[in-house]
Amino acid sequence: MKKVRLGIIGATGLVGTIILRILQEQNFPIQDLRLFASANSTDRIIHYASSQLEKDLRVEDLNTQNADTVKNLDIAIFSAGATVSKKWAPVFAQAGVVVIDNSSAWRSDPRIPLVVSEVNPKDVRWALATGGKHIIANPNCTTMAMMPILATLNQHYKLNSIIVSTYQAVSGAGQKGVNELASQAESMLNDGVNLLLKGTAFPMIKPDVFAAPIAFNVLPYAGNFLEDNSGETDEERKLRDESRKILHLAKLKVAGTCVRVPVFTGHSLSVNAVFQNNLTPRDVIEILTKTSGVSLTNRLTSRYFTRAQDMDIATSPASAFPTPLLAVGHDPVYIGRIRQDLSRNDQKGINFFAVCDNLRKGAALNAIELAKIVMKYLS
Ligand code: NAP
Repeated sequence: MKKVRLGIIGATGLVGTIILRILQEQNFPIQDLRLFASANSTDRIIHYASSQLEKDLRVEDLNTQNADTVKNLDIAIFSAGATVSKKWAPVFAQAGVVVIDNSSAWRSDPRIPLVVSEVNPKDVRWALATGGKHIIANPNCTTMAMMPILATLNQHYKLNSIIVSTYQAVSGAGQKGVNELASQAESMLNDGVNLLLKGTAFPMIKPDVFAAPIAFNVLPYAGNFLEDNSGETDEERKLRDESRKILHLAKLKVAGTCVRVPVFTGHSLSVNAVFQNNLTPRDVIEILTKTSGVSLTNRLTSRYFTRAQDMDIATSPASAFPTPLLAVGHDPVYIGRIRQDLSRNDQKGINFFAVCDNLRKGAALNAIELAKIVMKYLS
């Protein structure tokens, strides 16, 4: 593969840090690597070491750049928030740099493809064709977790609707979300009796990032409420709009409840999915065993597999349940608790639980996989 001149915007943040880690793990073919962040990080040195490149890289202030200073890049991966992407992605794109954007800035723009690398990789070409915007959007980390699973099942059984409840980690809100859980948990930990009997503790740290204490608690919404009287948050709306765009199912019915939980990393989803055709848990397991990017962790899998020749599927690849701690630091989406939907009188519904590392699979890894697809188009 041709070596690339790559820019990482938001290189000092949570997602940026994981991007750099994966690039090194994969020995990504890099000719030149430039790191950008805010003025707070200017001149910070980050050591990069792979067989392709070993260098102390100096972080540059994004806000002093212009089309001339960035035109020597081939691809730029943005992970610095929607405001930064809205302002700076067009500057890079107009300088001829292909932008892969992790923020929500461009996802709903019909001119910009929204791509999961295993699901709709060919959509990348909209961005690169003549007249294309040279910007490719990465989905929200929660939507990402269910896409490889639902895309494969849709091919076989035709997806009609999904009802999804999420259990979202604090790192989904960036470094500040992580800091808030850590400091609240530390200060409240030694007051278990009051937490148990009064729902309070001494000292209580006043919430800042989240609307209520996140330590030892569950918050029944994630994101911001929309101003359209729907009662939905933007995270819940993203689940619907992004699923429709990625799966090319404009009328897909989606109802989501996004919940924030005191987990550092790893978004979990409880999904009820209804299809046009009948399917059983056994069918789902058999198909997902062969699906790229998905790993089965169904301790009850063996219930559906009684013949000796099936046992490889029944026991592979892991016998644990999908949990956030299992997913952290790993690439796949983990799926388990696969069951028939017994609220129905037919076999068209299934329930399952899925988990992914929101920083890795939910953001950094997909962005890097998209960069590889772009590199094929560029060479
Ligand atoms: P984060 O830890 O808060 O990091 C933010 C990064 O953006 C830092 O590198 C910061 O630089 C940089 N930045 C902030 N304001 C800037 C400005 N005005 N100019 C230049 N750089 C600026 O956030 P994160 O969790 O990595 O998330 C980054 C983006 O990825 C967001 O758009 C988020 O929606 C998206 N995303 C996050 C996740 C997740 O699970 N966290 C998943 C999918 C997508 P300094 O260090 O210099 O301040």
